[in-house]
Amino acid sequence: MDSKTIGILGGGQLGRMIVEAAHRLNIKTVILDAPNAPAKQINALDEHVDGSFTDPAAIAKLAAKCDVLTVEIEHVDASALADLQKATGIQVFPVPETIKLIQDKYLQKEHLIRHDIAVAESVAISGATDAEKRVALLQVGEQFGYPYMLKSRTLAYDGRGNFVVKSAEAVDEALQDLHDRPLYAEKWCPFTKELAVMVVRSIEGEVYAYPTVETIQKDNICHLVYAPARISDTLRNKAAMLAKNAVKSFPGCGIFGVEMFLLPNNELIVNELAPRPHNSGHYTIDACVTSQFEAHVRAVAGLPLPRDFARLATSSTNAIMVNVLGASTPDGELAMCERALQTPGASVYLYGKTTRPGRKMGHINIVSSSMDETERRLAYIMGEDVAPVVDEVKE
Ligand code: ATP
Ligand code: MG
Ligand code: MG
Repeated sequence: MDSKTIGILGGGQLGRMIVEAAHRLNIKTVILDAPNAPAKQINALDEHVDGSFTDPAAIAKLAAKCDVLTVEIEHVDASALADLQKATGIQVFPVPETIKLIQDKYLQKEHLIRHDIAVAESVAISGATDAEKRVALLQVGEQFGYPYMLKSRTLAYDGRGNFVVKSAEAVDEALQDLHDRPLYAEKWCPFTKELAVMVVRSIEGEVYAYPTVETIQKDNICHLVYAPARISDTLRNKAAMLAKNAVKSFPGCGIFGVEMFLLPNNELIVNELAPRPHNSGHYTIDACVTSQFEAHVRAVAGLPLPRDFARLATSSTNAIMVNVLGASTPDGELAMCERALQTPGASVYLYGKTTRPGRKMGHINIVSSSMDETERRLAYIMGEDVAPVVDEVKE
């Protein structure tokens, strides 16, 4: 289909699902990550690079085998990518400048504010010593009130890097918890829902939005995604516009996940962007015309993205994605996967990782023609006391 070879920095589950999408188009993918990473397991090649996506030498080794480089994670060496792009002319999507802006969550916020995108009020925490930072945190408490959110500017994921500062007395614990990390503080957002929109920018610069979805996090990790979000059409459209405008403010093509908060007065603000496929977009594999992974592959390879590729498969498609997290007993999480296999309209995705409590081991997409029915199937899969679904409701 396309003679370009795509190199992927990172070989976790997102890389694995990019590989699947690329392979269906006969597009070769080469992975940089540890040996036997999830994306390498389904991609039999001698050419993968064993190493770290933060190591410039390993990135150069990957680049030498590819025409285009992309990422499945933003915590890569963006300067190494920029240098390589300059030295060799290799295409890198998302562009290194965008990765750099997004990987520092405070720079990302400043960038969004410069482009008139609504975000929570935030302030950088300066200070060389813990004593200086302590003073800064107490000042933030006076400015924002309590609780407020203290965040690591870099290397954050699944809430690891966030601390809810509930009172002045909690400041020392917060500093201990986020010891040595570059910090900023964010005003507390009393959101009524968290929303997300996947947005794709083509190589020609066109920007497309997937449906607005609702995400429910448990312990800071994405637990459920409802597609479409259970909000008004007006709000869904507003969220899609906001997400598109946020993505338009960053250069370069590819897919982006845009996380948002819906506030009690129905205002929307952007929480953060991810310059890559996103957990909130896994539902697209079964519920949309083209999955987020294929859309990303098409975007970075310069392939067409025809009309309506990002819409729900039918006007009555209602989907829920549930993440499969490692259970407290090894492989205990497989019980829900077995129930999902018995459930019409449910698809199981396992990532080939060693089981560990709380680890993202896979996800399940459930699709039916009504959200009530999809929720009933979810309840069965989650082990609640409901009868198994034997027949699809009349479509
Ligand atoms: P991800 O895995 O999405 O990259 P992350 O570690 O970058 O996560 P955030 O997205 O910043 O973390 O925050 C994780 C969760 O914490 C959010 O989804 C939201 O539930 C909550 N949260 C974040 N910021 C705020 C805030 N300012 N006010 C209230 N809750 C917040
Ligand atoms: Mg994040
Ligand atoms: Mg987040």
